[in-house]
Formats: sequence, structure tokens, C-alpha cells
Amino acid sequence: MKNMTLERITEVCGGVYYGSEADKKKEIAGAVIDSRQVESGYLFIAVKGEKVDGHQFIPQVFEKGALAVLSEQELSEPAGPYIRVESTLGAMKKLAAYYRRSLDIKVVGITGSVGKTSTKEMIASVLSQKYNVLKTEGNFNNEIGLPLTIFKIREQHEVAVLEMGISEFGEMHRLAEMAYPDICVITNIGLCHLENLLTRDGILKAKTESFEHLTPEGTAVLNGDDDKLCEKKMVNGKPVVFYGIGKEAKLAKTEQGEKYLAEKEVYATDVEPVGLDGTKAVIHIGAESFAVTIPIAGEHNVYNALAAVCVAGKLGLSVDEMKRGIESVKTIGGRSNLIHKGGMTIIDDCYNANPVSMKASIDVLAAAPGRKIAVLGDMGELGENEQELHAMVGEHFEGKGIDALFAAGALSENLAQAVGKCSKETEVHYFKTKDELMEELLPYVKSGDTVLVKASHFMGFPEVVGQLTK
Ligand code: ATP
Ligand code: MG
Repeated sequence: MKNMTLERITEVCGGVYYGSEADKKKEIAGAVIDSRQVESGYLFIAVKGEKVDGHQFIPQVFEKGALAVLSEQELSEPAGPYIRVESTLGAMKKLAAYYRRSLDIKVVGITGSVGKTSTKEMIASVLSQKYNVLKTEGNFNNEIGLPLTIFKIREQHEVAVLEMGISEFGEMHRLAEMAYPDICVITNIGLCHLENLLTRDGILKAKTESFEHLTPEGTAVLNGDDDKLCEKKMVNGKPVVFYGIGKEAKLAKTEQGEKYLAEKEVYATDVEPVGLDGTKAVIHIGAESFAVTIPIAGEHNVYNALAAVCVAGKLGLSVDEMKRGIESVKTIGGRSNLIHKGGMTIIDDCYNANPVSMKASIDVLAAAPGRKIAVLGDMGELGENEQELHAMVGEHFEGKGIDALFAAGALSENLAQAVGKCSKETEVHYFKTKDELMEELLPYVKSGDTVLVKASHFMGFPEVVGQLTK
């Protein structure tokens, strides 16, 4: 890793170096906290976790060829050099911030309540048409995952696409300080992590903490159809690039009454679902426009593609490259992932859930052929209004033509009751537990059905998908 000698690392994290002068001048080849990932020349960062203490692996990592160890403890007779710091997690953040700034690379930081990972995948797919891209693997978006991702950047990378996820105030300051983005994308201000952030204005404030950590030339790309984000017209002294469906500002009902949202610079028209296989749209950027098929269902994926086009426009891609990048994006497990089995189509969306993504998925199901079955579970972290928010998702069933609901979990009872009231065409099956639900669901489904499976992570709904696809 360029510039990352043990000497520099010691300085940057204010630690004390124990080892030879010769080793001090060596650059590390990588930095990890998982001893199994250590390779020759790596820095092993010993982190004390809830279950295991990384310090116990120090002898092994030296055997595996680690160059050095970052440790909170004094080591007696270590097999190689080490740097002692007060907090290895703190040191890791300082190192990531330093390393990021030492690199000649463009960084795209992505945050928002819903759709960060999906948008990251879309942006990376598009930018890969022109650049060598490093992206966050999976969902490594927090104060541990982000620095570890930054440590994966190498000289051949031209752009890093980094997901940043938060659940409390101040966290975004720490993430964006490390990422130091050239472009900051915010997907939306929805309803999650309300427990700590309390209101949507709270969420807006927390997400936009990132604007204070942009590069001097840095800009923001924001969803102009979001009633909170559309207020942010200027960021870092520059006009924001807004994206959305339709050029004109939407008239929307907000907490302060009806108002017009933002006019959009990059926008989609002629949006038309192609069954469950995706959505056709025409995307406009500047004087150019192009027809594209977004290969993942749901209007929300049109938004994700638009965000990618904005970023691609800033980084000099042609519309042909944008189109190719969008059309080659891959779905990721648990997020609008289509599985065909025994004549059934299963929409595996059980990675996570909150009111915004639940509604988006119900809209996707509504476009399906055959019998439409929604298998839904509780959404977590919604704070004191959790019951109302579940009922609100239930109300969204109205007029959607969903044939059956199978719901499980204490909070989902509110959802099931609301569906019973608002959508007479939906057969409602409510269960206290996931196991009871599966017992009834498995004999119920048949060839030709489309089954949406979605709940918050803690509900363990991948098991339902597992059973359906067995
Ligand atoms: P996490 O906070 O867990 O990291 P995330 O913000 O990365 O979540 P994704 O994993 O991309 O979000 O998507 C979560 C769910 O939201 C999926 O069910 C997906 O289909 C849906 N989704 C994806 N993009 C959007 C969007 N722009 N708006 C609304 N829903 C979306
Ligand atoms: Mg994510």
C-alpha cells in the first residue's frame, strides 16, 4: 500500500513503534482485522470484539507472514514488529482517512435510508465501463467495514464506490471524514433508524453531515423527488445535481402541506415495467437521451440507475457506457432477487425491510402475473410509531390486486389488520411466528404463483425462501 510504511502508520495513529529500524521503512501490503485474511506483508489490526479478542491471534498472524501488528496491548516477545495504540478501532479510522487522502482516486460515497447497496452496485456497474473500480463488498458500510474497504484500494484503482450506513448522529461525520468523497449520493430520506434519529428531519440532518467532508471540488447528487432532499439546492458552494422521474418538479403532500419538489437535471421518462424482469425507461442527461432496460424490477431501480447516470456524467462517461453499465447490473441476494422454482417465481427481498422498501416491493409484486402472494414479517428499528408504520404498509395494499398475505411477527399484526380493512381482494393469513407461517404457506403455494418474501433481518426470513425453493 502506497505510502503506508510502519513509520508513517505509527505517526498517523499516534502510536509507539516496537521493532527494528529496517522494518520501520517497509510498506504494508494490506490491512485486515480478520486473522484468516492475513497474507505476507500485511498489517494485522487486533480488535477486541464482543465475542473474540483479535489479540489472541497475534502469534498466528506472524506465522502467516504478517509484517506487523497494531495492538492495544503490550506484547512480550512478539515474533515481529508492532505498533501500540490506545484504540485499534480509532487508529484504523485515522489510517483510513490518511490513506484515502494519499491516493489519486475519485471517491463516490453513497448514503440514504434505503437502496444504498443497490445504488452502489448500479454505480459500480456503470463506472466499470470506463474505469477500474473498487466497490464496497456486500454491505460493509459502517465504521469498521468502511476503513477495511478503503484499505483495499490499490494503485490500479481509478474510482472507489463506497457505501456509508449510519444509525445515529455523528456517525456520518466519522464515515465521511474517512471516505472524503468527491461525489456524495443520497438515495432518499425514509423511515429507518427512527429509534436514534427520531424524525425524518433528524435523518436528513444526520445523512447530510457528509457534505462537510467533501473534497474542495466535491459535489452532491440527490434524489429530487424526495421531499426532504429537494430542499438542499446548494452543497459545498455548488448546485446539486437532482435526479428523478419526469423533468418537472413533482407536486407532493408533505408534513407542511402540498409543495413542489425539485426540478431535475437527470431524469427518466416513458417508464414502463417489463413484468418482473425489469423496467424500460428513457433517460435524459443534458442534451442527450437514451432508451434503456433496467434489468431489476421496481421503480426504485429506475432511481438507482438515474443516480448512476448522474455520477457517470460527472466522471465523463458516454451515454453508451451508461446504458451498457445499467443493462449489465446484477441483482444481489436478498434484494429483489428473482428465483424460479417449480413453476413459481419467488421475489427474494428478505435481506431487510423498512416502510419505504416494503412499499416498493409490494409495487413490484403488483406487476407480477399469476396469483400474487406477499409473505411479510416485522420491520425493526422503527421507534415509537412502529405500529402505525406497519399499518401504513398494510394500507398500501389497497388497489394493488394482491391475492394473499401471509404475515408473521408481533408488529405485523397491525399490517395484517390494515390489509384486511383496505384490500378486500386479499386473503389475510396472520401468524405469531415464522414457523407457523411456513407450515401453512408451503401447502398453499403452487405453480404459477409469484411470492414476495420480505422482512427485517432479525426475522430470519431467508429460511422461508429456503423452504420455498427446496
Ligand atoms: P442497509 O441499510 O441494510 O445497508 P441499503 O440502504 O443498502 O440497506 P439495499 O440493500 O440496497 O438498501 O435495499 C434494501 C431494500 O430496498 C431492498 O429490498 C431493495 O429492493 C429496496 N430498494 C433498493 N433501492 C431502493 C430505492 N432507491 N428506494 C426504495 N427501495 C429500494
Ligand atoms: Mg446496504
